[in-house]
Amino acid sequence: MTVRVGVIGAGMIGRDHVRRLTDVVTGAEVVAVTDLDAARAGEVAATAGARVVPTAADLIGQSDVDAVLVASWGPTHAEHVLAAVAAGKPVFCEKPLATDAEDCLRIVEAEIAAGRRLVQVGFMRRYDSGYRELKKILDAGEIGAPLMVHCAHRNASVPESYHSGMAAQDTAVHEIDVLRWLLDDEIVGVQVLTPRRTRHAHAALRDPQIMLFETASGIRIDLEVFVNCRYGYDIQCEAVGEKGLARLPEPARAAVRTAGVTRTGVPQDWRERFVTAFDVEFQEWVDAVAVGEPPGPSAWDGYAATVITDATVEALESGRIVSVGMKDRPAFYAGGAR
Ligand code: NAP
Repeated sequence: MTVRVGVIGAGMIGRDHVRRLTDVVTGAEVVAVTDLDAARAGEVAATAGARVVPTAADLIGQSDVDAVLVASWGPTHAEHVLAAVAAGKPVFCEKPLATDAEDCLRIVEAEIAAGRRLVQVGFMRRYDSGYRELKKILDAGEIGAPLMVHCAHRNASVPESYHSGMAAQDTAVHEIDVLRWLLDDEIVGVQVLTPRRTRHAHAALRDPQIMLFETASGIRIDLEVFVNCRYGYDIQCEAVGEKGLARLPEPARAAVRTAGVTRTGVPQDWRERFVTAFDVEFQEWVDAVAVGEPPGPSAWDGYAATVITDATVEALESGRIVSVGMKDRPAFYAGGAR
């Protein structure tokens, strides 16, 4: 069966996902696109041989749209996801599920009322081969019980519009999701330290930041977020357990030896670093939608990520250790994947 997808939002990532669904993924076809900017929607729709639909509500209601991709601006996500769930259609929502925890809970409640998994959130690190290898090692108990995790998330630079809270909301949110999944544990507390500020950050930006998370079982995670590191896009993760450690592999690159040095390139941005993860993420989503419920990051994971990022922003602003006030996970989402 070909999954016919309607796409809401034809901006930077919406356009890339339309290309992915059209040229890379098998078993999918983009049939409709909508964007606030109709000309942009038309341009992107043309690349897939799809039609333009005036609004998101119209798109969700189209009889030939089997599944919906939400790639619009974050504050619009909740409305679109709720409409897709109300229509009984599977919906892939780019992160965040919603910018507000209450809206995330409304989605969770709507999905439970629908009685089946319809929502998947775009946390693509779970589809990266390196993180999957780490998860296998941790799940097999090869390093014993994990005790500490050391992480870094570095970007070469960010635009002027990037503010201090985005270090949690847009950057660390990926570690927050992937660490909950890797460790099969919940983050319960957070503190944010602010070292000396880099002179390469704009005046109002706290950069770098060190985020210290504690999980329910007592694992300590330190995450360096440094978004003006200048040299490239660099993701590091090392889990230390009772009898060993496991480290996220570096992306495969040729080592060049010349003029007395060995050098290996560093990816320059997240698209390059995670391009294959995005491809796998969409292939698995399409395959699952064709036959049943998507097994990827759930509405509950989207809720958890929003609550934890809110607590991280509060910790940054207050300078205090903040407890993460999350509701109990409903039985509907039991078993991790849900
Ligand atoms: P973007 O370039 O600003 O694109 C968003 C597009 O959605 C714009 O064309 C916008 O139109 C349109 N839009 C906004 N509200 C809409 C609505 N109600 N109906 C239809 N179209 C609407 O943003 P982006 O960088 O692609 O990011 C989109 C989402 O993807 C964000 O939530 C972002 O966090 C997420 N994202 C995830 C990753 C990842 O690593 N997984 C990476 C990048 C982005 P206007 O410009 O006219 O408002």
